[in-house]
Amino acid sequence: MTFESLGLHTSILKALTDAGYEKPTPVQSQAIPAAIAGRDLMVSSQTGSGKTAAFMLPALHKFASIEAATGGKTPNQEMQAARARGDRPRFKPAQPKMLVLTPTRELALQVTTATEKYGSAIRRIKAVSILGGMPYPKQMQLLAKNPEILVATPGRLIDHMESGKIDFSQLEILVLDEADRMLDMGFIDDIEKIVDATPDSRQTMLFSATLDGVVGNMAKRITKNPLTVQIASANNRHENIIQRVHFVDDLSHKNRLLDHLLRDETLDQAVVFTATKRDADMIADRLNIAGFSAAALHGDMHQGARNRTLDGLRRGQIRVLVATDVAARGIDVPSITHVFNYDLPKFPEDYVHRIGRTGRAGRNGLAVSLVNHAEAVNVKRIERFTKQLIPVNVVEGFEPKKTASAPRSAARPGSWKPGDNRSAPSRPGQRTFSKPGAAPRKDGGGYKGAGARSDGARRTYGDR
Ligand code: ADP
Ligand code: MG
Repeated sequence: MTFESLGLHTSILKALTDAGYEKPTPVQSQAIPAAIAGRDLMVSSQTGSGKTAAFMLPALHKFASIEAATGGKTPNQEMQAARARGDRPRFKPAQPKMLVLTPTRELALQVTTATEKYGSAIRRIKAVSILGGMPYPKQMQLLAKNPEILVATPGRLIDHMESGKIDFSQLEILVLDEADRMLDMGFIDDIEKIVDATPDSRQTMLFSATLDGVVGNMAKRITKNPLTVQIASANNRHENIIQRVHFVDDLSHKNRLLDHLLRDETLDQAVVFTATKRDADMIADRLNIAGFSAAALHGDMHQGARNRTLDGLRRGQIRVLVATDVAARGIDVPSITHVFNYDLPKFPEDYVHRIGRTGRAGRNGLAVSLVNHAEAVNVKRIERFTKQLIPVNVVEGFEPKKTASAPRSAARPGSWKPGDNRSAPSRPGQRTFSKPGAAPRKDGGGYKGAGARSDGARRTYGDR
């Protein structure tokens, strides 16, 4: 499959080549032809699967084709012409042809930047972002350019609609990006209001991590005869995340091992999960003293403090986040390479949520559980739930005094035998863990101390 075969305008193909895109991602190959044909879309696929281009390329294709046909004068140019003639300039609301709604300012800016990239070879297509927190005069200036494409967060857009600065009567394409997150953030009323202000004749494309429940209902309400694209992702099954169990004798052993693992050279940023808020605070303090730039995140913190911590994490100022389950739900920071379960979660479901904080955007991740011998049974519960075995690992110099007790049963009969991956002495360098974003390493090295049971690990992950 190539971008050419999707029928995109040549000026877009050029921009894609310049951007280094070689071929469409699965979501793009499915969505783009349907969108070019004018169909509504309901799409669910993982972060990093290329959804922005899936809606922006067909839109740009449409605008490029119209422009080629008409040489189109924009209303703004008409206004400038009127001004040049000495007519008194009249206020004219912006009349965008396309509106993209996103949950956050960062996402809106990302979409605008991507649009500029994809549309770089098309003349006279302007995309602007209208965001909360941007100075009002600046926004008025942007709207006065009468951009074809508006990218906005719902709240701020409503303000401008209500003060008559934007007129959606000419709108042709409406996109809801990360619709599930917009609903999570309580934007449902704003979204309904915005959708109601757009023409029925519009094309609607909705993107979401899931199409279940409330999002699915909204999607069905605002689309007409949509094509549903659901890309089951490797990410949902966490196949890009290497999982490990390390047995520890006691707390001091656990702390020493954690400190050691946090010094892994492939570690960019990490989340350490604890069972209690108090532990999160205590461990963050301890790690800070040990020089790790750590911070705690839990439900007893004020929203302001939580936001500051998350900002610090996103900016890379915080390298180790020590968090409880609830606080860490939904954290999406691609440079999180490692997740540590300082305590095992109460519920196997939480284990899946926790390890999903790493391996974002198709990258690799490493999830390590530090487990007391008495908790072996809880590891088994997690394995039954995920239908995956978690190889036991030993780091040289940090061997537990006791070896793991009863053999754990195989989750997939025949794929693994008790003993396969536990008793061999450490063979450093056997298992490799690629740095996120890097090509898989074929040589040894990589994740330090992860060498123990390459045979067991291969059996568990080999048939992905
Ligand atoms: P999503 O919205 O699904 O999370 P994005 O649209 O933000 O994904 O794209 C994720 C990354 O992948 C971006 O850096 C983007 O430039 C890149 N990308 C998108 N499509 C392609 C492609 N066909 N080939 C290579 N890189 C791509
Ligand atoms: Mg996106």
